[in-house]
Formats: sequence, C-alpha cells, structure tokens
Amino acid sequence: MSENLKITVAKGDGIGPEIMDVTLDLIKASGAPVEFEEIEVGEKVYLSGELSGISKDSWSTIRKNKAFLKAPITTPQGGGYKSLNVTIRKSLGLFANVRPCKTFRPYIPAFTDMNMVVIRENEEDLYAGIEHQLTNEAVQAIKLVTAPGSEKIIRYAFEYARLYGRKKVTCMTKDNIMKHSDGLFHKIFKDVAKEYPEIETDHWIIDIGSAVVATNPSGLDVVVTLNLYGDIISDIMAQVAGSVGLSGSSNVGDGRAMFEAIHGSAPTIAGKDIANPSGLIHGAILMLDYLGLPRYARIIEKAILKTLEDGIHTADLYQSEVSKKKVGTKEFGQAIIERLGQSPEKIEVKEMIAGEIKVVAKGYPKQDKTLVGCDLFIDWDEDGRDAKIIGKKLEAIETDKLSLKLITNRGVRVYPDGMPETFKSDFWICRYKSKEHINSKDVINLQLKVLDAGFDVIKTENLYEFDGVRAYSLAQGE
Ligand code: NAD
Repeated sequence: MSENLKITVAKGDGIGPEIMDVTLDLIKASGAPVEFEEIEVGEKVYLSGELSGISKDSWSTIRKNKAFLKAPITTPQGGGYKSLNVTIRKSLGLFANVRPCKTFRPYIPAFTDMNMVVIRENEEDLYAGIEHQLTNEAVQAIKLVTAPGSEKIIRYAFEYARLYGRKKVTCMTKDNIMKHSDGLFHKIFKDVAKEYPEIETDHWIIDIGSAVVATNPSGLDVVVTLNLYGDIISDIMAQVAGSVGLSGSSNVGDGRAMFEAIHGSAPTIAGKDIANPSGLIHGAILMLDYLGLPRYARIIEKAILKTLEDGIHTADLYQSEVSKKKVGTKEFGQAIIERLGQSPEKIEVKEMIAGEIKVVAKGYPKQDKTLVGCDLFIDWDEDGRDAKIIGKKLEAIETDKLSLKLITNRGVRVYPDGMPETFKSDFWICRYKSKEHINSKDVINLQLKVLDAGFDVIKTENLYEFDGVRAYSLAQGE
C-alpha cells in the first residue's frame, strides 16, 4: 500500500480555525491520500515572544513536507513583529504567487465575468523590505528587481499558461516611469515571450491595467507582474469577482509550495460561524493539483461549485434573488461533503492534468560594467535650503577625476537652472560625473573631500554604464 502524502497544516488566527476545520474535513471526505501534520504559527507564537511568529520546530516540519496549507494569521501591530507570510515566502524561496479567479454568473453572485490568473512575483520589488530613514524628512524603500527573479516568474507564467491551456499572458508594469526596474521586467517578458509563440502576449501600464481588472477583466487571461502591483490587482480582482472570501492562492517555489485563502483572518467575524471557507477550500484544490492529485481536486471543486450553484451561500455571498439558503461556515462545509461525487449542472468544470511547474532561469550574458560617476546623497538643511548656495559650495569641491554635474531634490533638478517654485526637502542628490576613467577609490576620495568640507554625506550610489549604455535614471529636467 502506498503511503499517504504528508501536508503541513496551520489553523492560524481569527476565522482561521473555523475555515480550516471545514477544509480538512472536506479533504478527508474526498478520499485524497493525504495526512495532516499540524503546526502552530501566528498570534499566539508572536505573543509568546517569537517576533517571527513561528518556532524552529515548525520550520523543520514545513521544510520536510512538500505542501503547506495555511489559514490566515493576524500579525500584531507594532512591537517589531515581522509578517510571517513574507518571512515564509522569502525564506523558502516561494517565488510565484498564483491567484486564479473565475466567476460563474448568474449562478454565483459576482459583479462581472472573469476567468483570469494573477501570477505575482513574490520575493522582490518593494517587498524586499529594505527601508532606511536618511534625513529628518526623507525615508527610502528600495525597489529591488533582479534579472533572475524576473526571468523565473515570467517563465513560470508562460509555463502555467501552457499547462493549463491558457491563451494569453499579459505583463503589467510601470516602465514609462521606472524605466530601469520595471523596464528590466518588461524587457525580460518580451525576450521570454519569443520562446512561446503559440501564446498571445500584451503589456499594460499598471494603472490602466488595474482599471481594466476592475471594470472589464473578461479580456484578461494570465497576468504576470511585479510584487506590489500583483498584490493590489489580485485583491481588486477578488473583490470585483464578488467576495474576497472566494479565492485561493498558491505560493510556489522549487519543489515546495504554500497554499492559502487570499483573505486575512477577519477578526471581527471570528468565532461566529459565518465566515466563508471557500477561499481556503480553493487553496486546498490548488494544493491537490500541485501534489499530482487532480482527481481529488476535481471531486472537491465540483462539489463546492454544485453547492454554490444550488444557492447555498454564506452571508458574504447571499443575495435574495440568487441564493436559496443562507448558511454558516459548518453547514456550508457539510453541504459540500453531501455533494461529493456530484457535478454542477450549469457550471462547467474543466478536467485538467495539473502538476508541478518547474522553471529554470537561463540567465543573461555578463555585461561590461564601467563606472562613470556617482550620486552623493546629502542631508542639508541650511541657508534656507537655497539650491544655489549648496550648488556653488559643491561645485568648488571637485577632484581631478570628478566634478559636479547637477543637484536634484526629490528627483527634480534644482541646480543649476532650477525653478524657484520647486519644493526642497533636506535630502539632496548631488550628481558627479567623471572627467576620465575612474574607479571606486576616486568616488571615496570625492566623498572624503565633501565630508571634510562639512557636508553630511549619508550615502553614495555609483553610476554605471553596462555595455556602454547608461544604467541610471536621469533627473527630471536633466
Ligand atoms: P481581511 O481579509 O481579514 O478582511 C477584509 C474584509 O473581508 C472584512 O470585512 C472581513 O470580514 C471580510 N472577509 C474576509 N474573509 C472573509 C471570509 N472568509 N468570509 C467572509 N468575509 C470575509 O483583511 P483585514 O481586515 O485587512 O486583515 C485582518 C487581519 O488579517 C490582519 O491582522 C492582517 O494582517 C491579516 N491578514 C492575513 C493574511 C494572511 O494570513 N494571508 C492576509 C491578509 C491579511
């Protein structure tokens, strides 16, 4: 007899335990050959003094098993508590967040028709969590985008489209503004797309793309995007679909994945037996597909869709014109179990050969890197923040290799030839360009000279060309 697959399970906080109990009962009743190993994560662990919300023992269980089914958790406010979701995703290299969303009007209440999947990069971008306060007034968050990180998620999106028979992959970025970071993601999208000629592709700027998700998502199929945009558009998608309580998501890495509902722990409705468990159940369906158990995934999917089609709805979905019966969490779960083996009559459920998607980033050739200058970041709050004064002073502090080209404040040129109307904070970026070939020591020599002149240099950013092409942004007005 073959052994059951072990799955790590965490019941989480708020409505977590209620919706997880229903989900586990359903998985067991479906006959899926899996066993559960429960761990404790979340609020209790945080409040016991573990700032990460997870103990060492729990880590070893998660790392041992291929799949982790996690209910939502509450991250206590303040106190230095780190988001457990982000920690798990990043520590385990779960680089792809996959959120499918399908509506079934008129049988299940929804605002519009859609059948789309958001594939969100899960480790980089502003979620790398690299933030610093630089001056009294200025705080920065670093938006980190790497070529291998982008290539991996983009390849994943195309492989996903192939495996699930999807026709189109849409990339969303803001590369009209962030030409280097979002520009890299878009460029890699165009490169990788060439290897999938059978799949249609397009690109939307994220702001209008989000508006399309909100108003006319029926034309979207697979959407691949960076971390922050993906987080936002997948919530818009779920909300437009009808309820955040409906959708599940997977966080996939190499040989390991975590599955969850897309919603949070909904503390205000916890313990009342009114939460909709469908999101976590859909997470479990994704998990069974991932584990190569699509037969059981479909049994559960058909039964939940039959239940919803029969008008048996939790309070968040209930609409008197469509719904037949308002039920609580447990009764909804029971109704699904009673329908195991049945199929919805009007809603079509596609049989699919799902499984694990493996992607390997091919990488990009090494480029020739040349140092051509530096940006000195300076904290300066003197002389009424007059750009001409700081400009003249810094112009006088050149070295034989580097001289001041311009100064920006919040990305806008203020010296030379700034406009008096431009607002100036205490945070100045002073761009020095090289007069001849330079190395990092020349940058340090300049920095020492500027420090000796009494300026507070808070950080330095080197300016490079890669293969002779400028690889830093120009200031507005440069
Ligand atoms: P939330 O998703 O918990 O709730 C948003 C709204 O949707 C609330 O009105 C809630 O009642 C409703 N809702 C959510 N799930 C529902 C369900 N299954 N059935 C019916 N209604 C449902 O978001 P929030 O209020 O912003 O966050 C609450 C807590 O959850 C916070 O501590 C947050 O950090 C945490 N959170 C956790 C996760 C996770 O663990 N993956 C994700 C998001 C938020």
